[in-house]
Amino acid sequence: MNKYRVYGRAAKDLFRIGKKHYLYYSIMTIARQSMPFIGFIYMRKIIDTLISNRIGDTHSLIIQFICTSLILQLVQGMMQPLVDNEQEISEKKMYAEASRKMLRMHFHHAESTAVKERLENINQMLLSSQSSLPLLSLRFKYVFPSLISIIWGIILLHPLFIVDTAVIPSQFWWVHPGAIITMFVLAISISLFIQVKSSKKSAEALSRTIHEASEWRKQAFYEEKVLEDIKSGKEIRLYRLSGRLLENFQKQHHYLTDIMNGMYRVFRITAVPTNILAQLMSYMIYSFLGLLVLLGALKVGLLVQLSGALSQVITAIPTCIQQLMMMISDPEWLNEYYAFMDLPDEETIGSIPVEKRMDNQYEIAVSNLAFAYPGSEELVLKNITEQFEVGKKYAIVGENGSGKTTFIKLLTRLYEPTEGLIKMNKIDSSKYELREYFNLFGVVFQDYHLLGFSIGQNISVNPDYNHSKVMNTLDEVGLGEFVRTLPKQSDTYLGTEFDDSGMNVSGGQEQKIAIARSLYKDAPIMILDEPTAALDPITEFDIYQNFDNLVKDKTAFYISHRLSSSKFSDEILVFDKGEIVQRGSHKKLVEQDGKYQELWNAQAQYYQ
Ligand code: ADP
Repeated sequence: MNKYRVYGRAAKDLFRIGKKHYLYYSIMTIARQSMPFIGFIYMRKIIDTLISNRIGDTHSLIIQFICTSLILQLVQGMMQPLVDNEQEISEKKMYAEASRKMLRMHFHHAESTAVKERLENINQMLLSSQSSLPLLSLRFKYVFPSLISIIWGIILLHPLFIVDTAVIPSQFWWVHPGAIITMFVLAISISLFIQVKSSKKSAEALSRTIHEASEWRKQAFYEEKVLEDIKSGKEIRLYRLSGRLLENFQKQHHYLTDIMNGMYRVFRITAVPTNILAQLMSYMIYSFLGLLVLLGALKVGLLVQLSGALSQVITAIPTCIQQLMMMISDPEWLNEYYAFMDLPDEETIGSIPVEKRMDNQYEIAVSNLAFAYPGSEELVLKNITEQFEVGKKYAIVGENGSGKTTFIKLLTRLYEPTEGLIKMNKIDSSKYELREYFNLFGVVFQDYHLLGFSIGQNISVNPDYNHSKVMNTLDEVGLGEFVRTLPKQSDTYLGTEFDDSGMNVSGGQEQKIAIARSLYKDAPIMILDEPTAALDPITEFDIYQNFDNLVKDKTAFYISHRLSSSKFSDEILVFDKGEIVQRGSHKKLVEQDGKYQELWNAQAQYYQ
């Protein structure tokens, strides 16, 4: 994308995120920046009335000046807390944008290592890359006050163009407003030239700092995450990691501060010549203005207004241009950010709605399916062509890494196939709207996640839920009796993150809640991907025996590493190295030479 378009898009995004913040900030800044200029105007008027002996007018001008100043102060004071509050909100939103995108994004991309690394990179560079949204926002706050000063300057300096030069004696021809304007333009040009040169130096210092700091920042970032992550608490304690981690973290912090201080030193040094030049030019301009007054071409009051406005504008113009130049430098971060933000969202995928059927007749078939994970060439699934009957129960078995979970991820369209098709009711499933397609599946993954909300909210995935339906589902998975003994029943929170009276349930109970969640969804296709791993064999046996009742007339797939559980299925699919090598009932497969018999015999010794 063109550089200016990228910045245009960033400006739009910043405005969308921080509309109120910028509105309050602009009002506050206009009030603050206007104060000195309003002062110059009143000063001019007051001096003029004093010189022409209109003391009555002087008094009313002083009162007007005090009132205007008070109003401006009041506006500033009122806006400040609003600005601070909105700034915090908009910053949080800015930081959350990329993470929220991760949740909206098609899982196929969200899960890929390349995309995860991209997000990590974007987050790490957030506070060091010149074109990141927070730093652009900060830079806007440097540019905007200068812009206000420049506008005021132009308004207040215009009398310079209408000075009565006829009264200037001919030997003072060089004391001309034109000379002052030339000097003014020259002063600004030279100061700009120096600033451009020095900003190159500053930019070099900055990129050196970013480079030096990036490795340390990466580590500090990681360790900060580890220290904050409650899940690593067990290891931190048992292996006494906290002292070492904290020490390391502090060292890195000091190192980063040193690097940053070095950079600011360069900034300060490069600013010295500009300041000296600005001072010199100001004195010369004041002297010329003074001469114009002495020669009678300028009123004393106007001298105050002009010199005041000039002093403000002489620093505002270079600051504004320099900041704008730094703002529109290399949009490296923005390019990376927008490439990430433009990855397809779930809701943009697929165009036809899924047919709503009361009879659950959703038939799945796959043909010539092959799949390699994004960023990898290796096919983890290949040559899979199968049809599945509505209402049947399928067990998926095979050694670890044979592709069972990946197959489920493809059926549910969390990933898109590399080759081949998945058909739902004879239509290519990629044509269906993805969000609607997801509604067809009730899935419990091995690595399921429960949230720190109440049991009921976890099961219904909704803050408002049908209590009796939740309890019925809990009864189905055999957890109803336990939940009824809890004081708050299904309103009991899981964990103590949101409620001190929340409880920590066992791994087995958690799995039952996860299974209940998939049943509550009442989707036509049920999938259990080894969710019973943390259950003891007897409970697992009960669940699978009860499985027919649980899934009723729905099509069901379940993966289990305990082959004894697959006996309850109508058919077994045997995976080996990414292919389905056998398919049939337990009775048929156990008698057939092949992978299933091999796996069965290996496990059978444990059941005897
Ligand atoms: P199973 O469920 O049979 O144990 P999986 O479907 O989980 O097997 O894995 C099949 C293969 O795909 C394995 O070689 C595994 O390492 C690889 N794999 C699984 N998940 C990912 C992933 N997110 N990225 C890359 N490779 C993966």
